[in-house]
Amino acid sequence: MGAPGENLKVNADRLWDSLMEMAKIGPGIAGGNNRQTLTDEDAEGRALFQSWCEAAGMSMGVDTMGNMFATRPGEDPEALPVYMGSHLDTQPTGGKYDGVLGVLGGLEAVRTMNDLGIKTKHPIVVTNWTNEEGTRYAPAMLASGVFTGRHTQDWAYDRVDAEGKSFGDEIKRIGWVGDEEVGARKMHAMFELHIEQGPILEAQNKDIGVVTHGQGLRWIECTVTGKESHTGSTPMPMRKNAGRGLARITELVHEIAMKHQPNAVGAIGHVDVYPNSRNIIPGKVVFTIDFRSHLQEVIDAMLAEFAEKAPQLCEEIEVGLDWEIVGQFDPPAFDEACVGAVREAAERLGYSHMDIVSGAGHDACWINDVAPTAMIMCPCVDGLSHNEAEDISKEWASAGTDVMLHAVLETAEVVE
Ligand SMILES: [Zn+2]
Repeated sequence: MGAPGENLKVNADRLWDSLMEMAKIGPGIAGGNNRQTLTDEDAEGRALFQSWCEAAGMSMGVDTMGNMFATRPGEDPEALPVYMGSHLDTQPTGGKYDGVLGVLGGLEAVRTMNDLGIKTKHPIVVTNWTNEEGTRYAPAMLASGVFTGRHTQDWAYDRVDAEGKSFGDEIKRIGWVGDEEVGARKMHAMFELHIEQGPILEAQNKDIGVVTHGQGLRWIECTVTGKESHTGSTPMPMRKNAGRGLARITELVHEIAMKHQPNAVGAIGHVDVYPNSRNIIPGKVVFTIDFRSHLQEVIDAMLAEFAEKAPQLCEEIEVGLDWEIVGQFDPPAFDEACVGAVREAAERLGYSHMDIVSGAGHDACWINDVAPTAMIMCPCVDGLSHNEAEDISKEWASAGTDVMLHAVLETAEVVE
């Protein structure tokens, strides 16, 4: 029961044909896709995926959030399954690969196991997570969020789209409410293959990104309070200008993030100035700071420095400062053993690789809360995604899928 051989590879043409076949459903207007969640096109894509899974000898389970689980049995009926999964839904002007590669790559890995008669101790499950994109129904990663207990199903069902149609009504309408209780499944591990959606792998000429972490964040809402008064008649020494508080904190945020390069970012993106009049000194400014890093200690350090220095900067100019954390998400650190299996697989297959952090959110970031999880990334042209021009090569797609196949076989334990 050793590692799979270095010659074990998926069928690149079959994978590519499946990607192109799926892309015919919900075509976009510029060569990409519009297959938003819980639309008729989503239902059609789901049915095609199900038919392919059944043709590959798998049985389909569906939970009450519409998450799809295609199972290839293992040799040990007691062993927990190893999952591969991502999402088939797209942005309204989405590409053909974002999410789709992770689902159809999982299917191709199973087809390859079938071709070669490979048996595993653990069952293998290929998953399509409902509404990853979050465009039609915010937030993103909604169904994996319910699966892992971040949201309740009732809350998810109450989400409405721009036309006022609820998630609960639409999932019933397209006929994809399953009978499994959401979140009841237990996992031995999960692997998600995804396009990078950033420019690093292509620029570094690497085939594979070994994803070690996701980004965490803190959103801090600040209210600086001064005194509204006339910009013309108030003597300079007597002014309490809340706008200066904004200016000082804007610089502070930039300096703090710059101290932790290349592991942090920070900016103020949203500002409300009161009363926002040309001839009134701002009496109040409300704004939100967005700090992010993939390292918890960096997030903690940035927050601590802000908490120490910002009140002082405001005090010096005699304006008040109140702040509170209005958004927080700790950086997911993916499972060391699963990440190691991905890295070793890339090595064994002779693919160039580098460790990388996922800048975007993915279902794997949530699943990491409940099971050992890892992600594999492949390059995409110019780092472009959420765009119909999103593009990858057949070689990139199959290399990423080869790595996922090897990592999954290692984790699911091949039985001779
Ligand atoms: Zn995606």
